[in-house]
Amino acid sequence: RSKSQGGNKITYYSTGMNDQAMVRMELESYLRKALEKNEFHLYYQPLMDLKSGEITCIEALIRWQHPLIGLVSPAQFIPLAEETGLIEEIGAWVLTTACVQTKYWQQNGFPNLGISVNVSAYQFQQHTFLSKVMEALHVSRLAPASLSLELTESAMLKDIGYSISIMKSLQELGVKVSMDDFGTGYSSLSYLRNLPIDTLKIDQSFIKHLHDDPSNIAIVKAIITMGQGLAVSIVAEGVETHEQMNILRDLDCHYAQGYYIQKPLDTAAFEQGFRTVENIAYTVK
Ligand code: C2E
Ligand code: MG
Ligand code: MG
Ligand code: MG
Repeated sequence: RSKSQGGNKITYYSTGMNDQAMVRMELESYLRKALEKNEFHLYYQPLMDLKSGEITCIEALIRWQHPLIGLVSPAQFIPLAEETGLIEEIGAWVLTTACVQTKYWQQNGFPNLGISVNVSAYQFQQHTFLSKVMEALHVSRLAPASLSLELTESAMLKDIGYSISIMKSLQELGVKVSMDDFGTGYSSLSYLRNLPIDTLKIDQSFIKHLHDDPSNIAIVKAIITMGQGLAVSIVAEGVETHEQMNILRDLDCHYAQGYYIQKPLDTAAFEQGFRTVENIAYTVK
């Protein structure tokens, strides 16, 4: 059935659409209302400094709790939010909420806490992006140096000249830039030399089989060595075991993040869980 058969898009969908398209359309209409209905929440997951055992930074991870469909994972709705352009508004909400919460925590017991916020490709390409970042910093009164923005390799490489100029502007403000899911894209290593990044986050797929696959150790080791040469900090994502954490420490990886240290938690649980995380630091080795 072709689109041209039904002149009206709605009729076409409601008569000929398959289950997947139906789910998508329903999700989209719910997504449009999710912000005003306060259905989004941020969870926070710590990044641990592997030398000192300190929690220096936390990553904000969005959650969508819909009253009927339940918890929708960002892997499902972020792509949809990008396709529909809704990511602009959602992304601005994430930035402001994360900055306000971090400022609060800085003033209530964690003065040096940093926040890392995921930014999607479409959101990054918008010409309003820089001003949205500045607004979030202004509203929250958070110091720019406390904020890192996580971008994937593919988001950075879409229009590399433009990306570099925005990344440089961010760094001029004092905001840090991280490359997320490193190793899953196609970028040539020469890009890394030209991209103004402060942090590389090694994708969890390399960490998952760290102890039972020596080639992963070789890859992670090479990334860490390269990071040292480029003066870029390295974060290992998806650390789930004591063994993985010890290997990473032996390899001089700077930071680790993962379920072994702490799962992403909502604000209340995060405040409670903080002590537990601090204890883990001393149980390593
Ligand atoms: P990401 O930024 O690479 O985040 C890491 C994902 O791995 C998170 O999934 C996190 O919950 C999960 N994770 C953390 N530790 C472990 C571990 O030890 N083992 C395993 N198996 N997983 C772990 P989550 O929260 O479902 O987010 C998925 C992706 O959705 C994120 O990947 C990010 O790309 C995107 N995302 C999340 N929040 C936002 C947001 O606020 N804005 C945008 N644009 N994207 C977001
Ligand atoms: Mg991330
Ligand atoms: Mg990642
Ligand atoms: Mg990811």
